[in-house]
Amino acid sequence: MSDITSKPSHTKKPESERRRVFAIISHPDAGKTTLTENMLYATGAIHQAGRVAARGEARRTKSDWMKIEQERGISVSSSVMTFEHKDLIFNLLDTPGHEDFSEDTYRTLTAADCAVMVLDVAKGIEPQTLKLFEVCRLRDIPIITFVNKMDREGRETFDVLSEIEDKLALDVVPMQWPAASGRRFKGTADLTSNVFYRFIRPDEDGDTGVGAPQVDMDSDEMSAIFKDEDLLAEFREEVELAKEYGEFNIQSFNEGHMTPVYFGSALRKFGVRELIDALAELAPGPQVEPAQKAGQSVEIAPSNKEVTGFVFKVQANMDLNHRDRVGFLRLVSGEFKRGMKLKTADGKAISVHNPILFFAQDRELADNAFAGDVIGIPNHGSLRVGDSLSESGKIRFAGMPNFAPEILRRARTVDPLKAKHLRKALESLAEEGVTQLFKPAFGADMIVGAVGALQIEVMADRMKNEYGLEVLFEMPPYQIARWIACDDEAELEAFAAKNRNNMGEDLDGAPVFLAKSAWDIGYAQEKNPNLRFLSTKERR
Ligand code: GDP
Repeated sequence: MSDITSKPSHTKKPESERRRVFAIISHPDAGKTTLTENMLYATGAIHQAGRVAARGEARRTKSDWMKIEQERGISVSSSVMTFEHKDLIFNLLDTPGHEDFSEDTYRTLTAADCAVMVLDVAKGIEPQTLKLFEVCRLRDIPIITFVNKMDREGRETFDVLSEIEDKLALDVVPMQWPAASGRRFKGTADLTSNVFYRFIRPDEDGDTGVGAPQVDMDSDEMSAIFKDEDLLAEFREEVELAKEYGEFNIQSFNEGHMTPVYFGSALRKFGVRELIDALAELAPGPQVEPAQKAGQSVEIAPSNKEVTGFVFKVQANMDLNHRDRVGFLRLVSGEFKRGMKLKTADGKAISVHNPILFFAQDRELADNAFAGDVIGIPNHGSLRVGDSLSESGKIRFAGMPNFAPEILRRARTVDPLKAKHLRKALESLAEEGVTQLFKPAFGADMIVGAVGALQIEVMADRMKNEYGLEVLFEMPPYQIARWIACDDEAELEAFAAKNRNNMGEDLDGAPVFLAKSAWDIGYAQEKNPNLRFLSTKERR
């Protein structure tokens, strides 16, 4: 049985105030898995770190966390990792990258209240970092930046910070300042105190461990560490310059306009503890969520009595022996108790007898859970991504957005007589939120859209196993899909009539512009300034 939620809190804070829900956004290889593992290690949630990292370049075909799972034989394909620190309970949501990058990766961010953006110091902002950042920006969630791999040669710190400012239009405030990088990396100065965290090279005195030695910036020890007075003087000058970035402003951070920046080496466990401390200090607790109740706009606070939440992800076949699905419910308010009956806004009732609360080590049955927790609800297809659940069945949270696919494929069955069957199957997977389905205005093509290549493979697999269909996915004559909207209905219709060959609709009948290239979108936008070409669409 779970003890994390039943343990009495000595601070008497309401349980929901102790929850922090966050996700890590990064480009593949920046070090997300290594950082996750060392966060769990630093907080005692797992007892040995390093095996995943040591596996290095092994082929990645599964979720990053499945990698950890395979290495350790523990269940972390759970999508949620929980650890405790400073009397807070952190729920870290997985944002799969690599080949399993999918809409789930984006949607998970709608369930997080905060994000840690991990950058490789040598690479700065990479394409996937940017994409994930843009999703965070939809809700303006606060972002803490961790510049990783300081033990490797990297770019100048000032350059990295400028790039964040320029590419993400975020104000940056360094909270620490690194002394060089790579072989010359000495550690980081905490700009809010007079402390220097000393980096001990593994070839010097062994591992730094999770807590780096702290040195007074004014002490003689600094000279011993730098071994070069000029280098030290230069560093002190940089630290003074760094302070000119200005004060950290919590409001600006909470509104998603300012990011505090930390530096370290996930692999060497350096800076990880300080990053978790920063999360504990800065990350906001569960937020008030806007919703609809009987046609009225309402705000659901974590302290509301009624148990409410929304499903941000549905995972199929977590257990190969049972063809089960698990819906991941982010609790927004109330105290959930096992056995409780919850209803969707469409009136479906679900008795939650066997919810799963996730731990780093294991999945356990949850007796109770609070706003800011995530519970897994096993079901046989009754829960959909974007579903709202509540005791009254009257609450409907703003829908999950759909994200414009980057991969479009024309689906065709080997047996042409099965076209109707195929359409049904494609519609059902699109409803589940696995992939999207577009119907061009002309012809009988069915265009499948995905944000990650693995989704198409998964789909082909499921078509075969679940629907008995042999499906070919071919290149269609379009490459990009954008929802279109316009305040003037007539103008939208005129555009659609003029561009019939490139028009289509999605599963809900919303108009979609199917273009050959990004250039075509730009051109259409230029010619039709009142039209909006959207890469995200709210469901419902
Ligand atoms: P992910 O793809 O973002 O999950 O990245 P991983 O955590 O799997 O790391 C990618 C590679 O970078 C692995 O070989 C790690 O050992 C390595 N790595 C991660 N963090 C660091 C670091 O701080 N320093 C160095 N030198 N290597 C790192």
